[in-house]
Amino acid sequence: MAKQRAWIQQSLKATGCELKSDAFTAQTPDGPVAMENLICRFPGKSGKAIAISGHYDTKKMDKFVGANDGGSSTGFLLALAATLQGRPRTDDVYLIFFDGEEAVREWTDSDSLYGSRHLADKWTRDGTNAKLKALINVDMIGDRNFKIVWEEGSAASLRNLVWNVADSLGYKAYFPRQGGAVADDHMPFIMAGVKALDLIDFESQSSFWHTPQDTMDKLSVKSFDIIGAVVVKSIEQLEAQK
Ligand SMILES: [Zn+2]
Repeated sequence: MAKQRAWIQQSLKATGCELKSDAFTAQTPDGPVAMENLICRFPGKSGKAIAISGHYDTKKMDKFVGANDGGSSTGFLLALAATLQGRPRTDDVYLIFFDGEEAVREWTDSDSLYGSRHLADKWTRDGTNAKLKALINVDMIGDRNFKIVWEEGSAASLRNLVWNVADSLGYKAYFPRQGGAVADDHMPFIMAGVKALDLIDFESQSSFWHTPQDTMDKLSVKSFDIIGAVVVKSIEQLEAQK
């Protein structure tokens, strides 16, 4: 994790964003664990903000790689940082790399989402959440056979905006209007009153999710391109809103 963190920080510094660390101690079933969210801000001038997030930790398991679960969101955010680099901004755009998404033992409300719960609370207290027009979280988006879940717990207006963008780009097949509720890093922000959305592929869960088979050969550049195009256009539409 320390090596990965240093590498992410180095990659982000090259994009010229304002890089911040959000280090904290998580109380887990295995005792206190040092965790660290990484936040990269591309400043705008409206006083409003948009956040795109994902987790960079991965499941602590024997022989586990986590190419899709942890790897895809990390790679996606790094590529997005390079894409946003040097573009004029209306709103602040935050890219958030969450630590501690995975449960230390078994998934429960208190053993999961450590990083997002910490930041949602911190940003409520310091006023950042009040500036957020939207938070879009990505998770497990690299699978070559992906379909994004129409996540029921997400903010309806934001979900409609993103799904309409996907339709307009010709990606209707990847964004079906069916799904279910998924607990993920967007939820602490929903609870904090932020318009938040989760973009997650559930198809992959059946086959290689949380197994040693979650490896690079399951991923496809095309999937990243599709999600990237949808997220970048969604940011543009959100910035056009007052
Ligand atoms: Zn996972």
